[in-house]
Amino acid sequence: MTPTLAPALLRAALAATERGWPVFPLRPGDKRPAGHPERNCPRSGRCGGGHRTPEQRATLDAESINVCWQAAPYNVGIATGPANLVVVDLDIPKDDTDIAPPEWADMADGLDVFAALCERAGARLPTETYTVRTRRGGQHLYFTAPAEKRLRSTADVLGWKVDTRAWGGYVVAVGSVVGGAPYEIIHDAPPAPLPAWLGDLLTPQPAPAPMPLAELSTRMRNATSYSTAALRGELEKVQSAREGGRNRAVYFAAYALARMIRNGDLTEAAVTGELMSAAQSIGLSAGECRTAIRSGLTRGGALEASAA
Ligand SMILES: [Zn+2]
Repeated sequence: MTPTLAPALLRAALAATERGWPVFPLRPGDKRPAGHPERNCPRSGRCGGGHRTPEQRATLDAESINVCWQAAPYNVGIATGPANLVVVDLDIPKDDTDIAPPEWADMADGLDVFAALCERAGARLPTETYTVRTRRGGQHLYFTAPAEKRLRSTADVLGWKVDTRAWGGYVVAVGSVVGGAPYEIIHDAPPAPLPAWLGDLLTPQPAPAPMPLAELSTRMRNATSYSTAALRGELEKVQSAREGGRNRAVYFAAYALARMIRNGDLTEAAVTGELMSAAQSIGLSAGECRTAIRSGLTRGGALEASAA
């Protein structure tokens, strides 16, 4: 690492905070957060009260930033959620084999897809906003987050090569250098408010209402009362699972109920349907539910491993 890079990165970190964007260190020359991931957490030092994520560690405090960036030439991460930002990440294909799916046929990259989305919404491409060129030639369009909702980062929600970074995510700040290539400002305007149509597209649809548990026994006439009670018990566990343990709760429920499917007391369709409904009602996505249920059923011997 060249000796001149460290002061430049310290300036980059402080410049972000001057715009009100909390920062945290990324590994030198890299876009991954510095420090340990949650699975390797020592539960001591700054994590003595439980693991602290980069989003929780991000700071505006000039003194701690000075100390941190004098220690090593860290790249700069901006925690988009606390920064009150929604950043639209327009990526480009990785190589010749990375081509648009049929839905976005003829589109060359994320910018093309985003332009098509704007056209569909009857809106202009919102270019009058703070814009960064990423090291591979993509673009980050910065917008201020709407006050009335807490948007989370998305991947593949808007379209091919169009992701967003908000709560739960971060962006690599201008001045950072990844693989020898810099992130640079290409339009130095203040971030514009996120267009309302875009905010609507990024708002998660409410999950279907959970099935009232009292209705279960009438819905499942063919099930024995013992298996219905077991199913009800597992659904209650899923519905009371705490954030961070929800996937696991669904997995274990499926695992526990697999035995009843093997014995013919419950059908796979009934178990999957009820667990999907319960799991989505506590905020898991359909994809997450399906994966957890299939893993649990497979592990419990109710599905062939090859089908998982
Ligand atoms: Zn930790």
